[in-house]
Amino acid sequence: MMMMMSMSSSSSSVQVQMHVEPFHFEKCQSMSQLRQYHSQIIRLGLSSHNHLIPPLINFCARASTSDALTYALKLFDSIPQPDAFLYNTIIKGFLHSQLLPTNSILLLYSHMLQNSVLPNNFTFPSLLRACRKIQHGMQIHAHLFKFGFGAHSVCLNSLIHMYVTFQALEEARRVFHTIPHPDSVSWTSLISGYSKWGLIDEAFTIFQLMPQKNSASWNAMMAAYVQTNRFHEAFALFDRMKAENNNVLDKFVATTMLSACTGLGALDQGKWIHEYIKRNGIELDSKLTTAIVDMYCKCGCLEKALQVFHSLPLPCRWISSWNCMIGGLAMHGNGEAAIQLFKEMERQRVAPDDITFLNLLTACAHSGLVEEGRNYFSYMIRVYGIEPRMEHFGCMVDLLGRAGMVPEARKLIDEMPVSPDVTVLGTLLGACKKHRNIELGEEIGRRVIELEPNNSGRYVLLANLYASAGKWEDVAKVRKLMDDRGVKKAPGFSMIELQGTVHEFIAGERNHPQAKELHAKVFEMLEHLKSVGYVVDTNGVLHGHEFDEEEDGENPLYYHSEKLAIAFGLSRTKPGETLRILKNLRICEDCHHACKLISTVFDREIIVRDRTRFHRFKMGQCSCQDYW
Ligand code: ZN
Ligand code: ZN
Repeated sequence: MMMMMSMSSSSSSVQVQMHVEPFHFEKCQSMSQLRQYHSQIIRLGLSSHNHLIPPLINFCARASTSDALTYALKLFDSIPQPDAFLYNTIIKGFLHSQLLPTNSILLLYSHMLQNSVLPNNFTFPSLLRACRKIQHGMQIHAHLFKFGFGAHSVCLNSLIHMYVTFQALEEARRVFHTIPHPDSVSWTSLISGYSKWGLIDEAFTIFQLMPQKNSASWNAMMAAYVQTNRFHEAFALFDRMKAENNNVLDKFVATTMLSACTGLGALDQGKWIHEYIKRNGIELDSKLTTAIVDMYCKCGCLEKALQVFHSLPLPCRWISSWNCMIGGLAMHGNGEAAIQLFKEMERQRVAPDDITFLNLLTACAHSGLVEEGRNYFSYMIRVYGIEPRMEHFGCMVDLLGRAGMVPEARKLIDEMPVSPDVTVLGTLLGACKKHRNIELGEEIGRRVIELEPNNSGRYVLLANLYASAGKWEDVAKVRKLMDDRGVKKAPGFSMIELQGTVHEFIAGERNHPQAKELHAKVFEMLEHLKSVGYVVDTNGVLHGHEFDEEEDGENPLYYHSEKLAIAFGLSRTKPGETLRILKNLRICEDCHHACKLISTVFDREIIVRDRTRFHRFKMGQCSCQDYW
């Protein structure tokens, strides 16, 4: 302003003051305002003032749109002698926008050196993040030392991050050891680096050595366990953190531990975390919100999930939480409700993405809504321009296959633009088995086994297909093939949470400390059921012809893991209570039938989450209406 006043004798300046409000850059909020301000600078002849242009470049760089960045580059080119600050600003802007190939960012750096501008400690972290090849990273590493930043902690932490990104863990460790006093960022980068590449136990060793753990490092270690399905260890660490650290749960830890609850079906723990979040006013971001909704959905509390979702103010209903809620309704077989929620989403002008449609199509498939599924599949392409991925095709094959439209499912596979993966083919095989389409099933079954020769489930499905047609010789051949190749069946296991503790049961388990007692309980339970007409659905199993997905002992169906978990649950609960079971494989026909009877005979609601969906057994009925 002072400058404008002193120049008020010039006619152009008078004109500006008459027609355009003098603009303060601090108030700039949009690119159009920025352009307006820039034109004022040009008209006033102030472009060559070195301190006026850099904030503009900074603003454009942060805006991160291609328009803004092109403008930033033009501004940058107009400056005769850009300094290190300007170079850093523009490098950072391009890095965040991801609009330029990262090589161009490295070119900006060589441009900087050619113009004899010395890089500083702000230059290297951005450059290291821009490296897409370890060779580039190593060159930057050498420069960093040459320019005297070999002891700068932020630069060294960026180096660790760069090396772990390229799986160069030894190099990362070497850099770490050169830091005299590694801070929590150094430690956490190393821990996350090891766990990122699956070296969880090594990550834990490093974690143990860390002298002052902060919530980020605790979280990194817990997340490492959660991502590798080692939920019990995540919980053990969480308990240790609560004991060692007073101010414990931030939103990151809460998000991680909610995923652990989801993985383990630990509803009580999940509720506790949710209460803690509410009580302490922890800020809800999209990840945390989605984690809460997801936890309730997958722990079988659909009503609670809906309640949390609907209590969110509209701006807090991020797309991930809409998707999660639609997915939850799908898992519970509430196809109609999922469609209604999707319509609500459109009314609220939230644009659906590919995951929304994946969940919506799954909802249609689980509820047998064939017409609706077909319509949404084409609607997705036509209205939103979303090209179907492999998973979308898989959903459609599932939808058509379940409904008995096997030839149409086959046709869809043949017309796919890419060749179908083993999951899509496996889905078709499942449909062939269900609807006794032996010829096609045989062809697909063989293809699937050759694509995944070590997956026991694929052999089991083909053998069961033969068994359903009474082709026992072929069953034996598949079984022999499996033996010859040394393929072992995946053990089935179920979990049940009672009074905050998760108990785990493995099918046919003989080594469990209470195995005898447990088997006696199952036996007693089934005897009760027999009195109301339960007959074990042998379907050839007991005659050794067919084998199911779980380990087979002498009476395999008797000791399927969910039966063990339910028998255990019955002895620890009272009539009217709910048993929540989580199972790693799909529930079999026999267990499904038994669960329906148990819900009446023992007056319990039983909620089983199997590999693909929920079954809610109540008064002799299942929520899936036997469509699964
Ligand atoms: Zn079973
Ligand atoms: Zn069911």
